[in-house]
Amino acid sequence: MARLTFCPRCAERLIVRHEGGRDRQACPDSSCGFVHFGDFSIGCSGVVLRELDGEVRALLIQRGQAPYAGTWQLPGGYAEHDELLAAAVEREVREEAAVTARFRDVVGFRHMVVGPSTNVYIICRLDYVAGEPACDGVETAAAGFYSLAEMDAMDGVQGISKWGIRHALSTPPGSGLSVDENGSDNRWQMFGLADVDPAHWRA
Ligand SMILES: [Zn+2]
Repeated sequence: MARLTFCPRCAERLIVRHEGGRDRQACPDSSCGFVHFGDFSIGCSGVVLRELDGEVRALLIQRGQAPYAGTWQLPGGYAEHDELLAAAVEREVREEAAVTARFRDVVGFRHMVVGPSTNVYIICRLDYVAGEPACDGVETAAAGFYSLAEMDAMDGVQGISKWGIRHALSTPPGSGLSVDENGSDNRWQMFGLADVDPAHWRA
C-alpha cells in the first residue's frame, strides 16, 4: 500500500503508532485522529446475457486503452465512494457498451490483496433491458454479444470474465446474492441468498 508522508486530513507529518495490533502510519494530532489503515477499492462488472440467433450470448467489451489494451472483458469499473454496487454496475454497462441493463444478483467476487489497493471485484448478473452494443472508440474499441464458443475462438478474453459468464449460465437468475428490498435505502444495501429451502434445517 502507498506510504504517506503527510496527514490527508490535516497535513501534519505522520508518525508510526501501534494501532489495532500493527504498526501503522498515524496523525500525531489527537484532535484529528487519522490512522492509515490502507487503500481499498471496489470493482464491479456485469454479465448481461441475451438470446440471439438461438444462442445465449454475453456482453463483452474490448479495451481500447492500457493496461491490457485489446483484451476482451465484461463491462465494468470502480464503484464511486458514494455509489452503491447495483447503481455502479448499471452505470458502467451503460457507459462502456451503451446497453441498458438492470442489476439482478451477484454471481461471485474476487478478493485481492496485491496491487495499488486491496480490491474486491464483484461480478454481477444484470437483466438486459434495451440498447445495441456500441463503443466510444477510445476507452472501448469494440462491444458485442458473444457465445462461449465464440469467446473460445477469440484472442485475449480475460479468464475472470469467462469465469463469471460460466457461473451466470449455470445458475438461475436470482439464485445469487440479491438485494433485500426490506433492508435497503439509497445509502446502503443488504445482499442475501434466496430462501429456496426454508425447511432444510428442520429435516
Ligand atoms: Zn491529521
